[in-house]
Amino acid sequence: MRLTHIKLAGFKSFVDPSTIHVAGQLVAVCGPNGCGKSNVIDAVRWVLGESSAKQLRGESMQDVIFNGSGSRKPVGRASVELVFDNSAGLAAGQWSQYAEISIKRVLTRQGESSYYINQLPVRRRDITDLFLGTGVGKGGYAIIEQGMISRIIEARPEELRHFLEEAAGVSKYKERRRETESR
Ligand code: ATP
Ligand code: MG
Repeated sequence: MRLTHIKLAGFKSFVDPSTIHVAGQLVAVCGPNGCGKSNVIDAVRWVLGESSAKQLRGESMQDVIFNGSGSRKPVGRASVELVFDNSAGLAAGQWSQYAEISIKRVLTRQGESSYYINQLPVRRRDITDLFLGTGVGKGGYAIIEQGMISRIIEARPEELRHFLEEAAGVSKYKERRRETESR
């Protein structure tokens, strides 16, 4: 699966609906300080199910919603959608048949949070399941941020094992076993 588009609306500084076209294998995001580069990464992390506001550089989850600027009023909801090319059919389970897969998360100021796969309402864990064992998703290594390299180098063996298991595709089965055992 290859990420092709990131669609944002009302998310942090991206107040108007915007589509970022992720063209090619290597894409660089550049711009002056404060223009919203890190907000794009926050958006990707958020739609993948990030539940810690701190990880998204906020105090509460509602901080991801555009909260106004000198010339614009705050808005009531944030939405982020990632579109993946799945023409190789590599997505897990029932989703493998779709040539394109979109995942979306919406949050309102009232705190209503919803997730969608191909515009169908799903649970947060359906999104997590879709990416388990791919390195994408919470705790994955697909997003390497400042400080993470040194964290990996200095990691304790058990932490390092977590990354290796994700890369080897073992984490998916461990997660399933953990669930079965806790029933
Ligand atoms: P740097 O080069 O310094 O790392 P950057 O391009 O990564 O900068 P970001 O951190 O992505 O910049 O964006 C910061 C901007 O996003 C700030 O101007 C901040 O006001 C704005 N911002 C963050 N959250 C919100 C929000 N909820 N509503 C409106 N604007 C927001
Ligand atoms: Mg930044």
